[in-house]
Amino acid sequence: MDFAWSPQQEQLRAAIERVCAAFDADYWLRKDRDGGFPDDFHRALADAGWLGIAMPEAYGGAGLGIGDAALMMHTIAASGAGLSGASAVHMNIFGLHPVVVFGSDAQKARWLPPLINGRDRACFAVTEPNTGLNTLKLKTRAVRHGDHYRVSGQKVWISSAQVANKVLLLARTTAVEEAKGTEGLSLFYTDLDRSAIEVREIDKMGRKAVDSNQVFIDDLRIPVDDRIGEEGKGFDCILHGLNPERILIASEAVGLGRAALQRGALYAKERIVFERPIGQNQAIQHPLAKSWIELEAAHLMVQKAAWLYDQGRPCGAEANSAKYLAAEACYRACENAILTHGGMGYAKEYHVERYLREAWIPRLAPVSPQLILCFIAEKVLGLPKSY
Ligand SMILES: Cc1cc2nc3c(=O)[nH]c(=O)nc-3n(C[C@H](O)[C@H](O)[C@H](O)COP(=O)(O)OP(=O)(O)OC[C@H]3O[C@@H](n4cnc5c(N)ncnc54)[C@H](O)[C@@H]3O)c2cc1C
Repeated sequence: MDFAWSPQQEQLRAAIERVCAAFDADYWLRKDRDGGFPDDFHRALADAGWLGIAMPEAYGGAGLGIGDAALMMHTIAASGAGLSGASAVHMNIFGLHPVVVFGSDAQKARWLPPLINGRDRACFAVTEPNTGLNTLKLKTRAVRHGDHYRVSGQKVWISSAQVANKVLLLARTTAVEEAKGTEGLSLFYTDLDRSAIEVREIDKMGRKAVDSNQVFIDDLRIPVDDRIGEEGKGFDCILHGLNPERILIASEAVGLGRAALQRGALYAKERIVFERPIGQNQAIQHPLAKSWIELEAAHLMVQKAAWLYDQGRPCGAEANSAKYLAAEACYRACENAILTHGGMGYAKEYHVERYLREAWIPRLAPVSPQLILCFIAEKVLGLPKSY
């Protein structure tokens, strides 16, 4: 067993840190205040060749595994870019995994290179307002007419739909009452045609730089060539990407938690009250130390889940556990960083209140902590399915 980073991974981390160094805390503070997609950050990572880190080499990617991709996303978040930076490229890293696994050679050649070089931007449209986590019941309807489908329905919380020109869309091709098991949904990767898709931004708590939206689809025409895999098997295609997605967001959460912890420890050393640094008090030290321990443990679970995935072994329990542990540890680290700053923790210029607002995202999405506990209870402990 070897817990050390390889020399290549050390180089990867250093290279990502160099890109991120040009985007300091004040850059992300401005983005949080004013909004607007971080185009220059996205472009810098694309130009340095990092957007295709986990994409096949045959299409211009680096062909690395989820462990390396997770290290990249951790490094971005830990640089202080937090979830604003990570979410700006998250979809590029593993979002098109269903295309890599289930797409035809022609689809891969058409779709992967422009995503890797940053020309295309994709969003991921699964969640619906009326079905929530019960994905198998989603209602957006795709009806086939010869060589194309016509699609109508509604999605919610779709991130980066303001700036994307492509959408990975899960829609129903068989009526819900006729669909068996996990069948009945189909997956498409197609142009985000704004003449048939209305995108309305949601005014949300944090991560203003990366928009999230209500999406209204009215008679969108999708060529059959834009369907990934077989009709009716879209849920199975999506399932393939779920574990890597959880691993990536967990890694981002650990990075964000570590950025908060670093700020908390620095402030604890510098702030003098009662003629001594506040960090000399155990009441200040212990919560920070506890967060270090929790983040370290969460990161080990991230690495274990990534290792299992890259070995081609089952990793559902570990990927979900990593997401759960990392999100909770991140949230507590942000909270402790604010408490350490006292009143200044509430001031935007100290950055930690922004981190706390962003820490809610890995807690809530892409799956809730409750549903992770339900999953572990059922799949690991053998208890009756509760959802
Ligand atoms: C910032 C942000 C960005 C997002 N980006 C995207 C995106 O790009 N694309 C996309 O498709 N989605 C996106 N989402 C959506 C996200 O994945 C969903 O919000 C999440 O999956 C939860 O779904 P819901 O909000 O509909 O919750 P609901 O399904 O309405 O659940 C509400 C609450 O009830 C609980 N609950 C429901 N049923 C049960 C049960 N049986 N047992 C126990 N508890 C239960 C849940 O755990 C949750 O706490 C984003 C969300 C956020 C906040």
